[in-house]
Amino acid sequence: MSEATSEAGSEGMPEAMRGAGSAAVSEAESGPGPGAAPAPAPAPAPADTSARRDTPEALRQEARERDAADPLAPLRARFLLDGAGPAAGPDRDGSGTGGGTVYLDGNSLGALPLSVPGRLARVVEHEWGRLRIRGWTEAGWWEAPERIGERIAPLVGAGRGQVVVGDSTSVNVFKAVVGAVRIARAESAGRTEILVDAATFPTDGYIARSAARLTGCTVRPVAPAEVPAEAGPSTAAVLLGHVDYRTGELHDLPGITAAVRAAGALTVWDLCHSAGALPVELDAHGVDFAVGCTYKFLNGGPGSPAFLYVRRALQPRFDSPLPGWNSHTDPFAMDPEYEAADGAARGRVGTPDILAMAALEEALTVWDGVDPAAVRAKSLALTDFFLRCVAVHVPDGEADGGGRRVTVRSLTPAEHARRGSQIALLCAPQEAAEEVMEALIARGVVGDFRRPGVLRFGFTPLYTAFADAERAARTLGEVTR
Ligand SMILES: *Cc1c(COP(=O)(O)O)cnc(C)c1O
Repeated sequence: MSEATSEAGSEGMPEAMRGAGSAAVSEAESGPGPGAAPAPAPAPAPADTSARRDTPEALRQEARERDAADPLAPLRARFLLDGAGPAAGPDRDGSGTGGGTVYLDGNSLGALPLSVPGRLARVVEHEWGRLRIRGWTEAGWWEAPERIGERIAPLVGAGRGQVVVGDSTSVNVFKAVVGAVRIARAESAGRTEILVDAATFPTDGYIARSAARLTGCTVRPVAPAEVPAEAGPSTAAVLLGHVDYRTGELHDLPGITAAVRAAGALTVWDLCHSAGALPVELDAHGVDFAVGCTYKFLNGGPGSPAFLYVRRALQPRFDSPLPGWNSHTDPFAMDPEYEAADGAARGRVGTPDILAMAALEEALTVWDGVDPAAVRAKSLALTDFFLRCVAVHVPDGEADGGGRRVTVRSLTPAEHARRGSQIALLCAPQEAAEEVMEALIARGVVGDFRRPGVLRFGFTPLYTAFADAERAARTLGEVTR
């Protein structure tokens, strides 16, 4: 496995994997995506694309043309990517990728933005080395959690003063779920149930069950699509992933949020696989709480601090279960009585990890001036194109004369409105998937493997090229033969 721990797969086929889109067909477009409004214009593409028949050579040519026309292509040069990339010089295999590594695991750990090492060196040598304790005031260390939160806010559709950075996603899930339940139960003691995405990333489910024990609630797993029918007068809070980490399915954030609110309960959305991958509109849709990590599509580095969003109108009622001194209204008064700070700072706990925050803050500068709609358009174009390449290079058993050792089927919905920024391919036989991914990685195509039998390919629009998608599918065709 390419990254060991961040998303250890759980056992069994989750609910959401059944009935998700199948077959490597693409170009299906279904208008505005529920979690991704407004609908972006399609990425610039050669006008005669649809008239062409997909052949290996035509796809290679199309990748070159699309990369040349891609308005986000220059951003790739701001990341460290093993010399890969269309502009990387001699092209050893004619793929247009320069023959380096094709990195399709940015949905687990984003690549390194090139300006981060210099920033970290300056923070260590000057701020820590020379300023020492004065760094808290003179280098802006104390305000870093709120300041960096303001950089993330526009990427998740949040106005000022609602996002704070710190701790891990798991810890923020705990703050948000307990916080949401406390608010709901203060209004109605009969709300004793927490609904949790049945296919959730495991940590969210573990934390929700502990939050339930602490607050006298029970947890009930539900498929996200069933939430509008299942949320009712006994529901306190609903914890859902915006994009399913395994299948890449994008859930209907506006519709589900509205239904939960109508039922009198609060929403907690986990944005780990959508923040930085597609436009998210927290304020516009009235989301109550949201959390997300910053080391995936936001490229903040291994273990970079997560973020917590608390809707402004709820902040005065947010009773954090981890009221550390950093969330006190006057931390340096060293008051034995706790009085919660106003605003986003109420979500803080203890002393912020300044080195990790500095790396994250620097990494976020690559987003300056980037249009989220362009990111979404390129993400959809990349995943569509990858599916077409897979259909050509890894045809199903029949088209292939039945001779292929391993075949694949996409678990990611074909409809744009239900698709995040990754493609999940289920292998047949499933037991072959781990070995297939190892063979891909050995040939310089890095995705990852999730039980049972799923190959995941993440598409990070800031630095993934169409030539990467083409080479990944072509290499997949070679290793499954
Ligand atoms: C990656 C991920 C996490 C990670 O949680 P950490 O506390 O950062 O380890 C949590 N939830 C989801 C949905 C994820 O994809």
